[in-house]
Amino acid sequence: MHIQSIPMSVVHEGVGSSNNYAYLVHDDETKDAVIIDPANPPEVIPVLNDKQSSLNLTAIMNTHHHWDHAGGNTKILAALPKPVPVIAGKDSEGVTKTPSHGSKFNIGKNIQVTALHTPCHTQDSICWFFEDQSSDERVVFTGDTLFHGGCGKFFEGNGEEMEKALNQVLAALPDDTKVFPGHEYTKSNVKFLKKVAGDNKAVQALEKFADENQETQGKFTIKQEKEHNVFMQTKSEEMKKVTGETEPSKVMAKLRELKNAG
Ligand SMILES: [Zn+2]
Repeated sequence: MHIQSIPMSVVHEGVGSSNNYAYLVHDDETKDAVIIDPANPPEVIPVLNDKQSSLNLTAIMNTHHHWDHAGGNTKILAALPKPVPVIAGKDSEGVTKTPSHGSKFNIGKNIQVTALHTPCHTQDSICWFFEDQSSDERVVFTGDTLFHGGCGKFFEGNGEEMEKALNQVLAALPDDTKVFPGHEYTKSNVKFLKKVAGDNKAVQALEKFADENQETQGKFTIKQEKEHNVFMQTKSEEMKKVTGETEPSKVMAKLRELKNAG
């Protein structure tokens, strides 16, 4: 499995961010490929054109419907030599297929994809778990649900839903699964982690890495997120103490409130 990150600046009428990622993923053997969250066509189309003779694009995929993830679908489709399905949650622009939670499909010969529904940031959020059977490699594209050292805002959900998304669904993935989030937020997430878990050695290691590297996507695994990401530690005594709550979903909600407050 080969993953090419495409950093994007998705700004519309002065609103947006300059730290989004699209991901072009292909099966090494068949060259079948998908593009995930290609929100800014002017930055994505040149990459797709460049790869047109070497890769076979089979789908556009989205992690959720927000315009800085799914807002480029129609323009990307119009620029392709042949139509491809849009595989995404129900509210994405131009969506043609929404796999149910736990359902699987293949990309080329070796990549098996599992849809993991993780409603909370949006109700249509889906994390995509990719396993390459030939290289024994596992990755998960988490959109705005899980970031390195953080999680997305609860725009359409609550603490109970994010607790389930992070600490049941994503936490159940194999330890060595590499995490590819939808934004480069690691540095700002570290600031919050230091406030609530400053003594944690894994947080200090994450800070060092983020200070030394502009791009951190795919550099940490599910196992490491459990070690440095307080949103994956809602059952710990430390986070109960920090939040004054005992129920994991309430610990989660309180942590998000604290982070929102800055
Ligand atoms: Zn979003």
